[in-house]
Amino acid sequence: TSLFESVELAPRDPILGLNEQYNADTRPNKVNLGVGVYSDDEGRIPLLDCVRQAEEARVAAHAARGYLPIDGIPGYNSGAQKLLLGENSPLVGSGRVLTAQSLGGTGALKIGADFLRRLLPGSKVVISDPSWANHRALFAEAGFTVETYPYYDAATHGFNFEGMLAALRALPEKTIVVLHACCHNPTGVDPSAEQWAQIADTVRDRNLVPFLDIAYQGFGDGLEEDASVVRLFAQRDLTMLISSSFSKSFSLYGERVGALTMVCSSKEESARVLSQLKVVIRTNYSNPPTHGGMVVSSVLNTPELFALWKQELAGMRDRIRSMRTQLVDKLKEHGVSQDFSFVKSQRGMFSYSGLTADQVERLREEHGIYAVGSGRICVAALNSGNIDYVAKAVASVIG
Ligand code: PMP
Repeated sequence: TSLFESVELAPRDPILGLNEQYNADTRPNKVNLGVGVYSDDEGRIPLLDCVRQAEEARVAAHAARGYLPIDGIPGYNSGAQKLLLGENSPLVGSGRVLTAQSLGGTGALKIGADFLRRLLPGSKVVISDPSWANHRALFAEAGFTVETYPYYDAATHGFNFEGMLAALRALPEKTIVVLHACCHNPTGVDPSAEQWAQIADTVRDRNLVPFLDIAYQGFGDGLEEDASVVRLFAQRDLTMLISSSFSKSFSLYGERVGALTMVCSSKEESARVLSQLKVVIRTNYSNPPTHGGMVVSSVLNTPELFALWKQELAGMRDRIRSMRTQLVDKLKEHGVSQDFSFVKSQRGMFSYSGLTADQVERLREEHGIYAVGSGRICVAALNSGNIDYVAKAVASVIG
C-alpha cells in the first residue's frame, strides 16, 4: 500500500475555488468580486509607480543576493514601525518595540502564533464573528483552540458593540484576542474611536493578549488615521503583537511583504523576545526573501518615493470610495428600494452587501458575477466599465 493511502482530500479554499470557476467562465462581461485584490479602473492589478522606480534603481545597481538577517531588512522593519506607531514614537525610541520582516501578513500571523503557542500553551484564541477565514485555520494549525466573539450585526449592517464587549469581559485572562485594526475583512464594518477606546480598556483590565491584524492600512481613511487603533493600544501601555501587510498598500501581493511587530515592557525584554522569535523564523524558513522587502524599504526610506506612494495609495482609497457611492446611487437608479447607504460607511476593500447565498448564486449563474456566498463583495474590483452592469444585475436578483 502507498505511504499516502490514508491521506484525505482537503476541502478547497472557497475563495480560490471561486477564482477557478471565474477563470473558466467564458462570458465576456463576467465580473470577479470574490478575491480580495485591488484593481484599477481598467480592471488590472496596478504596478505602483513608486514600486517601478524602486525596482529600476535596484536592477540598475546589480546588487548581490546574499541572505538577509533572520528578522529581515533593518530599514524595512523600522519603516514598518513608523507607519504603525508614528514617526517619532517614544515607544520605539525606548527600544521596547521589535519588528521582523515576514512572508506577508499571513507569515506575520503564523510566526506570532507559533511564538505564542510556546509561551501560552493553555490559552485559547478568539477571532471576530465573522473573520478572515484563514484566521481560524492558521491559529488552529498552530495548535490553539479558536473561538469567536460577536462582531457583525446583520440586522443593522453594523457593529455589535455590546455583544463584543460582553464576550471580552467573560474571557479568561491571557486569552489571545485577534482584532482587525482597520478595514474589517470580510464586513467592512469598523468600531468607532470611542468604541475602540472601550475595547482597549477591556483588553487591558481583563489582562487579555491583543493581536492586532492590520492588512489594509491606508485603505480606510489614510495611513495615519488607519493606525489610530494601534496607537490607542500603545497609549495604554499594553504588551501586544501586530501583524501588518504591505500586500495591498503596495500592490505587491506575490512578493510576500509583511511584518510582525511586538511591543514589550522593556528594552531588555524586547531583546529576549526577539531572540526567541528568531528561533521560530530560523526553524521555519530561515530568513525572508529579498526583492519585495528591498522595494518597500527603499520606498519607505526615500522621501520622494514615500511621497509618491502616499499619493498613489490615496488614489486607490479614493477610487474605492467613489465606487461605494456610485454603487449605492446606481442601485437606486435601477429601482432598488432597499436602503444600501450602509455600503458607504463601510471601510476598506470589502462590503458585506447583505445579499443572500441564493442571490449570490443567481448573480453567478445568470450574470457571471462572482461574489462570496456570505454576500461579501470586493468593492475594489468595481470600475467604471462594470459598475452599471453589476448594479443592474444586483437589482434584478433582489427583485
Ligand atoms: N489579515 C487579513 C485580515 C487579511 O485580509 C489578509 C489578506 N487577505 C491578511 C491578513 C494577509 O495578507 P497577506 O496577503 O499579506 O499575507
